[in-house]
Amino acid sequence: MKELKILYLYPDILDLYGDIGNIKVLKYRLEQRGFKAIIDNYSINDEKPDFKNYDIVFAGGGADNEQKILAEDLIKYKEDIKQAKDAGVFFLLICGAYQLFGKYYKGVEGNIIPGLEVFDYYTEANPSRSNRCIGNIVIEAELNGNKTKVIGFENHGGQTFGIEEPFGKVLFGNGNKFGDTVEGFMQKNVIATYLHGPLLSKNPALADYIIKYCLERRYNEVIELEPLNDELENKCRLQLLQRFLEK
Ligand code: GLN
Repeated sequence: MKELKILYLYPDILDLYGDIGNIKVLKYRLEQRGFKAIIDNYSINDEKPDFKNYDIVFAGGGADNEQKILAEDLIKYKEDIKQAKDAGVFFLLICGAYQLFGKYYKGVEGNIIPGLEVFDYYTEANPSRSNRCIGNIVIEAELNGNKTKVIGFENHGGQTFGIEEPFGKVLFGNGNKFGDTVEGFMQKNVIATYLHGPLLSKNPALADYIIKYCLERRYNEVIELEPLNDELENKCRLQLLQRFLEK
């Protein structure tokens, strides 16, 4: 039986707005097609994970305080994480985790939380604590050449700069900064985004994009995923897209 191994980083600290739902969606969509999902959790004081042995590394969002708590621990794995990323392991990073993979995060008081420096972008909190990018968001991303609307919910004070390869074009909402035209960061095997939701429950095509990439990489063959019944998900998406985009 074909399988994918998923590593969930800091599930006890980074799980804002039910980001764990992303793991559940990946597991569900794999199992529905007869694949196996092996899910390991890692948090502070656990044994060092073998990052390159996984197909997907996932980390969710968290407030500044949570980011501060784990940053020192995460940085221990900087080189291993870079190697895994360079080897093609897929990284799905939401909000707080997105920020931590860049150069640094500068908090409201000017305090610096050092990032992993896996990517060149950096994030600085908006000086006013009460003025944050909050609300529903829709972006248009390109997944294997297909333009796909990705729906989510953002809540961040952090403004991310230095993005050369965004995840998508903003159709509704803010994005990397207040009123930005682009959102997130994307490479072949990386999606780093402000979108909670959880992201994958609102965007089944995105979940399948990740699954397909990971299965093809692991088994070195072209994999056509059997379609699943996404009738309810699609009805829900239609409703949301009408609400946000057709005014
Ligand atoms: N600390 C971050 C910010 O407010 C992350 C928030 C989040 O993960 N939703 O910008």
